[in-house]
Amino acid sequence: MLQEHLEQTSKKPLPVVIIGNGPSGICLSYLLSGNVPYIRRHAVHPNPILQRKLEEAPHVSILDQDLEYLSEGLEGRSSSPVALLFDALLRPDTDFGGNAEPLLSWCHQPERAVPHLVLGKNLPGGAWHSIEGSMFTLSRGDWMALPDLQFKDWLSKKKRGFRSNRATAGDIVQYYQYYVARKGLKKNFLCGTAVTSVKKLGVDSNSGYIDQDSREVSGWNSCEDPPTDDLNGESLFQVDGFVTTPDGTESFSLYAENVVLATGTYDSPSWLGVKGEHLPFIHHSLSALEEAVKNQDIGPMSDPILIVGAGLSAADAILLAHHCNIPVVHAFRRRVSDPALIFNQLPKTMYPEYHKVHQMMEEQALTSPGPYECYISLPEHHVVSFTEDKKCILRDKNHHQKVHKISMAFVLIGSNPNLSYLPNNGMDVAVDCDQPVSSKRNPIDVNPFTYESIHEKGLYAIGPLAGDNFVRFVQGGALAVAGSVLKKVNKNPP
Ligand SMILES: Cc1cc2nc3c(=O)[nH]c(=O)nc-3n(C[C@H](O)[C@H](O)[C@H](O)COP(=O)(O)OP(=O)(O)OC[C@H]3O[C@@H](n4cnc5c(N)ncnc54)[C@H](O)[C@@H]3O)c2cc1C
Repeated sequence: MLQEHLEQTSKKPLPVVIIGNGPSGICLSYLLSGNVPYIRRHAVHPNPILQRKLEEAPHVSILDQDLEYLSEGLEGRSSSPVALLFDALLRPDTDFGGNAEPLLSWCHQPERAVPHLVLGKNLPGGAWHSIEGSMFTLSRGDWMALPDLQFKDWLSKKKRGFRSNRATAGDIVQYYQYYVARKGLKKNFLCGTAVTSVKKLGVDSNSGYIDQDSREVSGWNSCEDPPTDDLNGESLFQVDGFVTTPDGTESFSLYAENVVLATGTYDSPSWLGVKGEHLPFIHHSLSALEEAVKNQDIGPMSDPILIVGAGLSAADAILLAHHCNIPVVHAFRRRVSDPALIFNQLPKTMYPEYHKVHQMMEEQALTSPGPYECYISLPEHHVVSFTEDKKCILRDKNHHQKVHKISMAFVLIGSNPNLSYLPNNGMDVAVDCDQPVSSKRNPIDVNPFTYESIHEKGLYAIGPLAGDNFVRFVQGGALAVAGSVLKKVNKNPP
């Protein structure tokens, strides 16, 4: 199949290549496959202003409407107006605890499909593949659904339900794979594909490509010979990488008029940047702890493990270690009562397990020995260094240092996107071009109503790369991209 696609795209560039096959890429593939959303007849949105706007053009697809106009004034848990709009149409009263049916009905119009490919290293599902299958979502389970296939319906077919409205990561991964198959999207997905480079090829706006001599060789521009036949758009990208099949690994090169970055932000775990962090007993993923437990590298009689961080991954690590009676030293920078700590933002009844960890962090820091055996909490502590003989030096807020003997360390302090496949690691297309791309602090700079890069025409970014961090909200970015691409390929939309 790859061979077929490669042959086609070496002759004629694809209109769209999507890099990343998580929820963002899957949702966009659905929209680009000729699935067009309309407002259901007689449906009424609880927001009267939005309802009035929807009534102005009831027969025009949402994809063809003015998203800026429709989304103006919407408020909610995302800062993206289009994310709020699409979410409001898919889950009209969910923030008020309701379960109203989506306002959208989906019409399959094959003539409106835009040829595209979705490239991804793993099977469809994105970051959910790297999350331990039994872990429960932070969000409500039904917020993990993609358009036109309710997650709760799929779950009930499997004869399973939610726990406190939450779902497991294992079920979510299965649902995304089912979605791709059920919606007939498989033909667009090339899994086992790692993109290593995206370059923009120079194109003359009057007559095609600019000549070889005037092309820059560095940064976003390339001087390789592109396919010149039938190019409609003004931008053309070359996408290179490797594909792994049972027969081995081979390189590929594709051409695309539009490239959508949907590679998420979970590929590169953050490091502390301290001396000795590269030593083999120090890990940066929760899966390394699961592996160590499975292989019995650590157990109740081992020296304590050090867990660094106070986010949900660190909490999951503590729960796992606690469950296996493995002694833990837990170091983190903030105060236990710091309002920025995630545990202080989660309702206790919905997240009892995280509440328990928070309680351990609090109680074990005050009393010594506290009520929890095998666990020591060290708030407001920084790691100074690790030594080869498995010791960790920690510094408290009064700058006192203490040495802890440990068996292994797990540094779980977040992650960063890996944009090594873009010139300058994507910094040139970020909001602040002098800083690394980061979902929270420095996302890719996109037009909020098309998600097209402000800096590079034809380049788009969706999902956490564009600052949308929850599955429920990444879908708005996909709607914006699909609307923009459809306008490009069809200059006269209905
Ligand atoms: C532990 C954890 C818990 C979470 N809990 C929740 C929750 O409860 N609710 C919620 O809404 N969200 C949650 N999220 C966030 C959620 O996972 C993301 O919002 C969502 O997965 C983003 O989707 P995406 O498709 O944009 O990116 P991703 O899901 O990250 O998918 C991107 C894919 O692109 C692939 N890729 C990267 N680079 C390349 C390359 N060069 N070539 C080819 N492929 C590449 C990656 O391997 C990955 O498979 C959680 C995330 C984590 C890590």
